[in-house]
Amino acid sequence: MIHEIFPVGPLDCNCSVVGDEQTHEAMVIDPGDNIEKVIAVLQQHNLTLKQIVITHAHIDHIGGAAKLKRLTGAPVLLNSNDQMLLKMLDVQASWLGMRPPENTSVDASLTTGDKVIAGSLVGDVLHTPGHTEGSICLYFEAEKTLIAGDTLFAGSIGRTDLPGGSYKKIMESLLGPVLALPDETIVVPGHGPLTTIGEERVSNPFLAR
Ligand SMILES: [Zn+2]
Repeated sequence: MIHEIFPVGPLDCNCSVVGDEQTHEAMVIDPGDNIEKVIAVLQQHNLTLKQIVITHAHIDHIGGAAKLKRLTGAPVLLNSNDQMLLKMLDVQASWLGMRPPENTSVDASLTTGDKVIAGSLVGDVLHTPGHTEGSICLYFEAEKTLIAGDTLFAGSIGRTDLPGGSYKKIMESLLGPVLALPDETIVVPGHGPLTTIGEERVSNPFLAR
């Protein structure tokens, strides 16, 4: 698997470009900003973009989706419970003192049981509400990798004080589907350094018991 991870936008959202080395099909996860860089990474690996996947509709994760879709024609996939947040992109921009980005249309909703696909690469969708109602994580079992959005960070968890946030729900998501994954699973959080499920299980103050 080709997997490039790089920070985009003023809040350093971790954007992932995931590609199949044989078929050169790819997905981009959380293109919050810096779409020129995203396109350059796709070109560098000779990848054709098949899916734009959004872990949740906060502006730092979805802000560049409309531009990337316009430039590549790839569909945008987002859990439908985040539609309200998507309609509030201009309000979210004002929170950060940013110019509102183009608002993207969503082509399909993703929830538990769905799969995201690029060539032979398959990611299982886990609906993990709490940071937002529509937050999802993507689990690439063969690659032992979890793209966690803002649900889980190295040493912390996503904030739940923004509209749609729920501490009760994020804890249910973490103690349920997320910690059910094997310890060796590499976690790519929405911000900051990578970690593993095993590391967070024992050392994350919100999860260790
Ligand atoms: Zn967020």
